[in-house]
Amino acid sequence: MYDTIIIGAGMSGLAAGIRLAHFDQRVCILERHSAIGGLNSFYRLGRRNYDVGLHAVTNYAPKGTRRGPLARLLRQLRFAWDEFSLSPQVGSEIAFPGVRLRFSNDFGLFESEVVRHFPRQKDNFRRLVAELCDYDQLGRAGTGCSAREAVAQHIDDPLLVEMIFCPLLFYGGAREHDMEFGQFSIMFRSIFLEGLARPLVGVRLILKKLVQKFKALGGELRLRAGVERISVSNGSVDKVILDNGTELECRRVLSSAGWRETMRLCDEVNRPDEHPAGRLSFVESISILDAQPRVLGHDRTMVFYNDSDKFHYGKPDELADARSGVICSPNNFAYGQPLAEGVMRITALADYDRWAALDRQSYQLAKLRWYDRMVASAVRFVPDFRSAVVETDMFTPITIRRYTGHENGAVYGLPQKRYDGRTHLKNLYICGTDQGLVGIIGAIISGISIANRHLLEG
Ligand SMILES: Cc1cc2nc3c(=O)[nH]c(=O)nc-3n(C[C@H](O)[C@H](O)[C@H](O)COP(=O)(O)OP(=O)(O)OC[C@H]3O[C@@H](n4cnc5c(N)ncnc54)[C@H](O)[C@@H]3O)c2cc1C
Repeated sequence: MYDTIIIGAGMSGLAAGIRLAHFDQRVCILERHSAIGGLNSFYRLGRRNYDVGLHAVTNYAPKGTRRGPLARLLRQLRFAWDEFSLSPQVGSEIAFPGVRLRFSNDFGLFESEVVRHFPRQKDNFRRLVAELCDYDQLGRAGTGCSAREAVAQHIDDPLLVEMIFCPLLFYGGAREHDMEFGQFSIMFRSIFLEGLARPLVGVRLILKKLVQKFKALGGELRLRAGVERISVSNGSVDKVILDNGTELECRRVLSSAGWRETMRLCDEVNRPDEHPAGRLSFVESISILDAQPRVLGHDRTMVFYNDSDKFHYGKPDELADARSGVICSPNNFAYGQPLAEGVMRITALADYDRWAALDRQSYQLAKLRWYDRMVASAVRFVPDFRSAVVETDMFTPITIRRYTGHENGAVYGLPQKRYDGRTHLKNLYICGTDQGLVGIIGAIISGISIANRHLLEG
């Protein structure tokens, strides 16, 4: 009999596992795939390592910082700051036609760029920053109010509003066009006020550390162990049944599979439709270069681009939306040594249903076409790197669905979050994306908070 079974070895499941194992619970993490990491995993192809999720770790804080999400999670999981080997970004920008706003991990740069390009908005922008909700206000309950409406009360230049929303929606927008003001505050803090960083070797380092710690505390991790069903009797979970028929008894279950996905697993009542599914997914092209991007004239870590004054964040009318995107160069972090090869990753909004409707051959063809379209769109905002490309790869909403089980390949999950992590069953909880915190740091904090709040007693 396990004290807690955790469904999913993504960031939130692993973090919750560490927390519970630390307090001597008998914990087992069940992961359907042969690799850990979920939305933030890695793979090897043609003797190269690729990251699936990680562009950058948000919420960067320099060594010695005591406050904020990064410091909190290191403390709660008992990691030293150095263990994640985070190197800060070199500098990023938001690029719209005719205006570029640069930002770095020093908020003063972003503020000065806003003042330089939108001098009339100087005081409005400062008032907005002063209004941001504190982290603690979100974890418990969303503010519910529209971020667009809240921001419009301060900033009256529509272009600046779109430019601020562009990175925040790309990095955490679960609903189309807008987000809750609480989520907006969290994203604003995590990207602009704190900042971006990356370990030299990518996300595998963070995953490796989490798994090592979990196992060292006596936790059990089972790969290729998909949960097929959660068995319920008298209003509580008594066991989980795996795809291969194995039955595991437990006192509680914590699921990071997603709200709707978890509800479908419960055998007594199927209630996934209580919350509408997320609709937003992404395609990503990866280009390996025979030169460092900097040598080709590109020294930015991230470029969030949009080719008109209005940013359309929604399910596209085609397979993907090439009008906007995120260009990430993992080379452009301050590692102190260069990555072995140049890499350019471009992420754009995509429509799961259209990709899912393609037959095998059309799917392969569409990947090639959209690689070309996305890169052609992106090189309007960064130096044209196409002549330096030596290898490419591409993933789509279908890839995301296949490797994480998330309905519609919805990276940021439900538009309406379940902040308290509770379900209709007294010993079944959810953590991760659908609980309310997204991104690597958000998911880890989610796992920790739900473990602390509901699973440590008794
Ligand atoms: C393309 C892309 C780029 C991203 N870029 C960034 C970035 O730069 N920075 C950032 O901070 N975040 C980024 N993210 C987001 C970040 O990866 C996620 O928010 C975070 O990893 C979510 O973690 P999670 O634990 O909530 O869920 P998941 O990672 O989805 O973990 C859930 C796990 O549960 C497993 N599972 C599901 N159903 C079952 C079942 N029935 N039985 C057993 N196991 C099951 C899945 O296989 C999966 O491993 C990106 C995501 C994507 C897809």
